[in-house]
Amino acid sequence: MFDHPSFDAHEGMHAFHDAATGLKCVIAVHSTALGPAAGGCRMWNYPTGEAMLTDVLRLSQGMSYKNAMAGIPLGGGKAVIWGDPKSGKSPELFRAFGRAVESLQGRYYTAEDVGVDVSDMATMREETRFVAGLDEGAAASGDPSPVTAKGVYLGIREVARRLFGTDDLNGRTIAVQGVGSVGGYTCEHLAKAGAHLVITDIDQDALNAVAKKTGAKIVAPNDIYDVEADIFSPNALGVIINEKTLARLNVKGVAGGANNQLVVPEMGEFLRRKGILYAPDYVINGGGIINVAAEISGSYSRDWVEATLARLIVTLGEVLDEALETSQPTNYVADRIARARIASARTTR
Ligand code: NAD
Repeated sequence: MFDHPSFDAHEGMHAFHDAATGLKCVIAVHSTALGPAAGGCRMWNYPTGEAMLTDVLRLSQGMSYKNAMAGIPLGGGKAVIWGDPKSGKSPELFRAFGRAVESLQGRYYTAEDVGVDVSDMATMREETRFVAGLDEGAAASGDPSPVTAKGVYLGIREVARRLFGTDDLNGRTIAVQGVGSVGGYTCEHLAKAGAHLVITDIDQDALNAVAKKTGAKIVAPNDIYDVEADIFSPNALGVIINEKTLARLNVKGVAGGANNQLVVPEMGEFLRRKGILYAPDYVINGGGIINVAAEISGSYSRDWVEATLARLIVTLGEVLDEALETSQPTNYVADRIARARIASARTTR
């Protein structure tokens, strides 16, 4: 582990095996400098244990940065369960996972991620209190997507302000990839603000529903990269900004909620050289984790969520401004600020 290329001074790596249920999982605690480590639990059929380790090391570091930028009192962690989410789930497995989380005594809070849904969270909750993302109970925060989408919409306005001197989106064209939970709500905000929408998805029903509500124009999934628009908003998949798509993009800004948009961090520099202003994904999509943080605090408050989201958008603006003033990629500036916030909290403690 200490020699692994993705090892980044993680505080703790905890591997669990439960013979009775077949559970194999790793919980990575990257940093608790800002508070207990928090991040979702992913269930994935990794080809190798090495692939699983790489994923959890990177994802937990990413959560430290995301939580630091969101200004919430949480550090970064992540859990991965090795297995097929379609065929490998059982209540016993998630209860065993819950006991693994409980054994860390609050150093790590878990939540939903790819392959794990709200009913799995409820099963874990039978064994541990250190679970968020529930839709029932006193402090339950429910679906985080509307908060994520509001942040994405406000973030798009910040990008527009730097590009066009105004955050008025009336008459602007926004190309939206993915109109699921986050993309769908984001489109509603954008349409209300008077933006012209060009949307794509692989789910025809979702597309039709959003087009009907917003008057959006629909294009085929592969055509979204060629749309001439003011801003491209990715809200579906990761690694969609790569060498091939970069050459096709015909926009001035990229601002969307999808995680891990850049195939490699260096893509941030290539976007900059092409004159495209990029809102770093883990900053603009921090609304969801702010919602989860409200639940972890034990007393969910809508006002606190709104105020913390507003501060996150100010932080995003500062990242964009520093990047533009110093001719740096926006994602490098965000990483530096996140690392500084974590280091400063560590020193204070
Ligand atoms: P979702 O599953 O509700 O929506 C994703 C949509 O993308 C679906 O409608 C799906 O059909 C579509 N899609 C899949 N492949 C596609 C393709 N090739 N081309 C076009 N569309 C495609 O998921 P979501 O919760 O809206 O999350 C969207 C993204 O935002 C993910 O990357 C997620 O990790 C990220 N994110 C979500 C939240 C949240 O609060 N839900 C928070 C932070 C980040």
